[in-house]
Amino acid sequence: MATLSSLSWSAPCLRSAAGETFAVRHIWCVGRNYPEHAREMGVDPSRSSPIFFAKPAQAAVQTGSVEYPPETDDLHHEVELAVLIGEGGRDIPAADWLDRIWGFAVAVDLTRRDAQARFKAAGQPWELSKGFDQSAPIGTVVPASEWRPRPETTIELSVNDQIRQQGRLGDMIWPVPELLEELSRSLTLNAGDVVLTGTPAGVGPIERGDRVEASIQGLPACKFEMA
Ligand code: MN
Repeated sequence: MATLSSLSWSAPCLRSAAGETFAVRHIWCVGRNYPEHAREMGVDPSRSSPIFFAKPAQAAVQTGSVEYPPETDDLHHEVELAVLIGEGGRDIPAADWLDRIWGFAVAVDLTRRDAQARFKAAGQPWELSKGFDQSAPIGTVVPASEWRPRPETTIELSVNDQIRQQGRLGDMIWPVPELLEELSRSLTLNAGDVVLTGTPAGVGPIERGDRVEASIQGLPACKFEMA
């Protein structure tokens, strides 16, 4: 192994249509943020509070072809609104968060559902069911000056042109500013962080060869084929 006196690396970058780049520092994710999805996972949404987990930055990819990951026979799709943080902070109130967002994009939180169930049953961390190579395909980024989430904005995902997930951003139990306020109570959110904000009901399996199209009204779709 080479001995290095110094080492540097390049952060994964997300691009906008205008060619602006956003270097990804860390990916935070929110679990069970839409009531119908909480129910399909067997949880009463009225009694749950935000659940945060993470994916490595390298999980973020803008690509038309995503590798079917190892260590699963039940890979699930979860369409989510991705929020890209432009100015970080800790203990930032909800009302101040919208001005700190750099941009938005459509993302898919790919999940090894079988592995997640095994980890949960064993009382173990389910990190590896969520954080693997290419586990966060992300569409073209739109700057926050050009798009804002609204309660009526539709969010959906289709596989091979069949609609699987459908909802509205107003269905979120904790809207974006409240999520960011809550997360920033626990730690400093930094410029470069991406927050995936949860998925509506209808999650399900995808197979090799499937064409996935995730969309949120007003944002470029996130489209890829499973290789
Ligand atoms: Mn998710």
